[in-house]
Amino acid sequence: MLSVSGLEVSYGGVRALRGVSVDVPGRGVVAVLGSNGAGKSTLLRAVSGTLRGIGGAIDAGTIELDGQRLNGRPPAAIVGDGVVQVPEGRRIFTRLTVDENLRIGGFSRGDRVAKARTRVRVLELFPILHDRRHEPAGLLSGGQQQMLAIGRALMASPRLLLLDEPSLGLAPQIVTYIGQVIRAINGQGTAVLLVEQNATMALQVATQAVVLTVGEVSLRGTAAELARDERIRKLYLGGAESTARVLRSLAGARAQRNRPGRWVR
Ligand code: ATP
Repeated sequence: MLSVSGLEVSYGGVRALRGVSVDVPGRGVVAVLGSNGAGKSTLLRAVSGTLRGIGGAIDAGTIELDGQRLNGRPPAAIVGDGVVQVPEGRRIFTRLTVDENLRIGGFSRGDRVAKARTRVRVLELFPILHDRRHEPAGLLSGGQQQMLAIGRALMASPRLLLLDEPSLGLAPQIVTYIGQVIRAINGQGTAVLLVEQNATMALQVATQAVVLTVGEVSLRGTAAELARDERIRKLYLGGAESTARVLRSLAGARAQRNRPGRWVR
């Protein structure tokens, strides 16, 4: 479905991604792991066409959806192609109601009947959003706001959902719930590219995974393989010192410039 090949991205001439290749098969869930500043959000923004707004540019490589080139297309056209991003930090409209936020997610679609059907499905997926649909979104808890951000993206009926750190700042039981929701969405036929620092959750949900280290893919494999990988296991279990050691072993000296991130819960 999605094929990213040899992607090079820079901000004002400073390279953030180098030769990154990732494939997301139809109905697959692919996790992108890595610490702060590794380039995970940059990869998602390259796919969704939203790099330009933050001063980023694709210097080389291709991004294709079912063989059609995505890079160079405007963000709205990419949404129209079925690729929808849930941004880091959720970016919901706090003064609008839950329902109004959902309706905004469906703006790009013309078919009213299909939109109404999707809205029902989203509210079934997140019963708490149904209960609070007339309340301002700003009154929701962090976990509920994340559900709303995902629900809003689903309103565009994506074939591929791009999730940027959905677990960020959430309590462990909510993270588990979000993981189950991602599985349910995937079970309904949507492929997912999942950026996470919470490798535990991501590897439970994903079929395949890549690890980004300072802008390059340093490890890739099935989620089960990566979950068994001693270096990744150390990242789960170790403190900051062992995290830094593992990052160095993944990417050699280059990783020494990298800060250990929120790998360890
Ligand atoms: P985080 O979890 O902290 O968001 P990340 O893995 O998503 O980390 P990116 O946000 O993609 O990492 O950042 C990759 C690199 O690009 C970092 O060195 C970062 O400082 C740089 N970068 C990101 N956005 C910009 C920007 N708008 N302008 C300049 N540099 C940027």
